[in-house]
Amino acid sequence: MEENKFYSYNHKDLPKGCQYCIKGQKMVIFLTGICPRKCYFCPLSDDKFQKDVIFANERPIISSKELIEEAELMDAKGAGITGGDPLAKLDRTLRYITTLKKHFGSHFHIHIYTTLRLTTEPVLQKLYKAGLDEIRFHPDLDASTHWKKIAFAEKFPWQVGIEIPCIPGKEKEIKKLIDYSHPYVDFLNLNELEVADNQQSKLIELGFETKDDFSYAVKGSLELGKELIQYVQEKEYPLAVHICTAKLKDATQLSNRIKRQAQGAKLPFDIIDEEGMLTRGALYLEELSPGAGYREKLKEDHEEIIERLKELQQEVKKLNIKTVFDEKKPRILISKSDAKKHVKKFKKLNLKPAIVTEYPTYDQLEVEVEFL
Ligand code: SF4
Repeated sequence: MEENKFYSYNHKDLPKGCQYCIKGQKMVIFLTGICPRKCYFCPLSDDKFQKDVIFANERPIISSKELIEEAELMDAKGAGITGGDPLAKLDRTLRYITTLKKHFGSHFHIHIYTTLRLTTEPVLQKLYKAGLDEIRFHPDLDASTHWKKIAFAEKFPWQVGIEIPCIPGKEKEIKKLIDYSHPYVDFLNLNELEVADNQQSKLIELGFETKDDFSYAVKGSLELGKELIQYVQEKEYPLAVHICTAKLKDATQLSNRIKRQAQGAKLPFDIIDEEGMLTRGALYLEELSPGAGYREKLKEDHEEIIERLKELQQEVKKLNIKTVFDEKKPRILISKSDAKKHVKKFKKLNLKPAIVTEYPTYDQLEVEVEFL
């Protein structure tokens, strides 16, 4: 079986949600960490699992306004709503779908991932009415109790899919699910299983191994996915199948989204590299500069530091330098060339100049910091 140009494998066309996602055009909405299930392979980080937190891409959000801002920043063409189980917070899910459709128009493509536990016909009716374009069910492979609910989705003219991780050793169960669900769904999306650095995932304890020391992908998962594509072909089931590989997520989807975000986040003097990272000059105060414990310190209150930095920004401006004040990570942003040019003057003002390369995401994660 041939790998496609996105480093994944497919039989028939890719689901529409995946097509947008691969191009990095989808904003990822983490709607809540609350979930009625507790899967042994759950990839959620400890600060998200069963916690009612909301993120749009990497940005924690509390309002629809912030949701729109983040979508505009990356010029999103759609959104994927995930969790947890978004249906655990149904009103929020409906509100976000309605808000996004109203703001960006009906062509803004929205898909959702949900377990079957909270699925009912009236809930699906509400999601459809709100404008949802595509629904992806994540059924429990070890208990078929809720599988009958998959058929409810067939009543609406949207795209319906099954999305599950490809768990080595679960071939029989997955085939049973395919046999059962193929009349009701348009596609099957098989995720290459990955181990996660969290408390909930028990894959390593259960004896699963990664492909090699540099990968989180589980040995045997991709091979099982390819076998399942063959199974669907042999049975001549009409559904499309896509194996979403760990490599696709990293090398294509995430990297394309980061590049889009870079276009929206860049300041006039920033330099963008081919991976979408931003290089800029930055002026810090000694007590709040990158180094040990910096991320933790950023969570504290910085009212006094911000005030002092704002006064110093006025002094920096006198050097005829373009500046931008960054409240999130209190610091003064300038161009890389200005940072290099006026090192002594900045130090005289008790500022710590640096050249920083960082992600264009809300958390502005540093890749490299060079103090001057
Ligand atoms: S359904 Fe998804 S979010 Fe919920 S426990 Fe399982 S893997 Fe985690």
